Amino acid sequence: MRRKIIAGNWKMNKTLSEGLALASEVVNIAQDEVPSGVSLVLCTPAIHLSQVAAILKSADRVFLGAQNMSEHESGAYTGDISADMIKSVGAGYVILGHSERREYHHETNAQLAARVKLALNKGLTPIFCCGESLATREAGEHVGFVNNQLRESLYELSAEEMSKVVIAYEPIWAIGTGVTASSDQAQEMHQSIRASLAGQFGEQVAGQVSILYGGSMKPDNAAELLAQPDVDGGLIGGASLKARDFIQIAKSY
Ligand code: PEP
Repeated sequence: MRRKIIAGNWKMNKTLSEGLALASEVVNIAQDEVPSGVSLVLCTPAIHLSQVAAILKSADRVFLGAQNMSEHESGAYTGDISADMIKSVGAGYVILGHSERREYHHETNAQLAARVKLALNKGLTPIFCCGESLATREAGEHVGFVNNQLRESLYELSAEEMSKVVIAYEPIWAIGTGVTASSDQAQEMHQSIRASLAGQFGEQVAGQVSILYGGSMKPDNAAELLAQPDVDGGLIGGASLKARDFIQIAKSY
């Protein structure tokens, strides 16, 4: 059975006091309202992690994640955050390869391969993001493009390692734009990602990997997307900044 995961990516939003208030509200509402098979992950700004961790201690199904991580273990990398640091503040997840980081910080597939491997070695669960631009989709090259991202960043892993990775398919044209992929478009890509995983790692591993959809998922479109057989949850940006909207998405399962 694959895990159902609704992860919130707060990006560079919320001061500390605002972030703590949001985390507390999520925990309070989640307790009573989120279906028992669904896990929530809050990926907060790194500077908030340790204090949000204290709030999440009392919650069984709300977990903590970082938004990025260095491929280096430690050393002279000013401003970067290591896997050990993320672990040490109580986070268990890390988003890797978000399209905003690929675009603004020029993260490459090879660099992300090193980060995924290091995260796994350190006991963190990577939420590995992939997805195509509008131009790539319009050229009909989206399946091949995403496959290449998977191949170059994930396919050196062992089958056991791969089974611990969470994938987030996030078409860039749907992120923060209000334009969501249709449920058919999402299912087509998720199915193709799972088929690609099956070809490389076998059916069993492919069946274990949770593949989340990300891109303008909101309370009013979540149910249809989450009903698709290969959509195992969501990575939520804008709608994760309001506790009610975030929980409403999780309740759509
Ligand atoms: C994201 O940035 O991962 C994302 C899915 O953002 P939004 O939900 O705002 O489109």
